[in-house]
Amino acid sequence: MTIIPNSFQVQAKATKWLTWKHPQQLPTLLKPYPWQTIKILGEGTNILLLKSLYHEPIIQSHYKALHYKITKDEVHLFVGAGYHWDDLVQFCARQHWWGIENLSAIPGSVGAAPIQNIGAYGSEIKEVLTKVLVYNLKKQTFQWLKNQDCQFQYRDSLFKQLNPNPFLIVAVCLQLSTRYRPNLSYKDLKHYAEQYLTPPYTPYQIAQAVRTIRAKKLPDPTQLGNAGSFFKNPLLTQQQFTQLKQRFPSIPYFKEQTKYKIPAAWLIEKAGLKGIRKNGVGTYPKQPLVIVNYHAHNGKAIYNFAMEIRKKVYEAFGVWLELEVRVWE
Ligand SMILES: Cc1cc2nc3c(=O)[nH]c(=O)nc-3n(C[C@H](O)[C@H](O)[C@H](O)COP(=O)(O)OP(=O)(O)OC[C@H]3O[C@@H](n4cnc5c(N)ncnc54)[C@H](O)[C@@H]3O)c2cc1C
Repeated sequence: MTIIPNSFQVQAKATKWLTWKHPQQLPTLLKPYPWQTIKILGEGTNILLLKSLYHEPIIQSHYKALHYKITKDEVHLFVGAGYHWDDLVQFCARQHWWGIENLSAIPGSVGAAPIQNIGAYGSEIKEVLTKVLVYNLKKQTFQWLKNQDCQFQYRDSLFKQLNPNPFLIVAVCLQLSTRYRPNLSYKDLKHYAEQYLTPPYTPYQIAQAVRTIRAKKLPDPTQLGNAGSFFKNPLLTQQQFTQLKQRFPSIPYFKEQTKYKIPAAWLIEKAGLKGIRKNGVGTYPKQPLVIVNYHAHNGKAIYNFAMEIRKKVYEAFGVWLELEVRVWE
């Protein structure tokens, strides 16, 4: 039996634990199992395990290939699913390649990064991802999916929509740039750069700035179990937003095409739920969108707590929060 790594620090084990280092191994490794039963794990930083024992096969990638080609000012990368995302960010930033420096210090693996279209500080992986190599569990074949095929949206993709998801991500292809293009669209990052850095900036400086800002706000999962934001920021229609703004004139928002994105952290705080604790679980006092595990041993306690938060936010604002974290039943 294998302990399932997870950043919530919940205790859970797997009876069928599979790992792979090279794509060629996949067809033989996965053949014995009905494809719908296979669970794909990265580093476990965005999952909540509800059971203490899993009999379904769990497969984790250890494929750490990294290839790149530079043409003019473009850098084309091919990276294996098992590569640690933040190692990739640091590597690219040190090479002076622009494109993923704002995604610095996001935990997890490269293979999981497209699943929820990881994003932070004004960047998302969809902006630099050209295609992904997947192993289709159902058809037992390899195939390429282009950026548009992945249907990326805010913290969402085709892989998240399909249930069960037949696509095991084997590797991702990214296109970065050697041309100067810092993205300081995010207010906190812009202020930090203006205060502490001198232009022209380097991607490494930006990556370090993001790391510093994040460290002040987010709990380190090795010290305090968590999976980052538990809920997505809700996107409201014009009508929903107008109604809410009448009741709460100071409500913060970001306009996204025809929708209005509201910080879920604001809703949680205004509902009086910031920093509360129950049964060993709580909302993080510095960032209430993060649910933290103080001393709960099982995922159900965390799940129940999160559902209470969701219910209370709904009662207060009529807004139903969607989960960002993937729940493994
Ligand atoms: C402190 C903290 C801060 C965070 N901050 C951010 C942030 O700023 N922005 C953000 O977007 N996310 C953030 N996250 C969430 C998390 O880091 C990302 O979602 C990350 O991509 C998860 O990677 P993982 O390898 O741990 O995936 P896991 O948690 O192991 O898996 C997540 C999902 O991806 C699927 N999956 C994993 N690997 C593959 C694969 N190779 N093929 C197909 N499916 C796969 C799994 O089945 C599961 O559904 C944060 C998490 C923590 C703990």
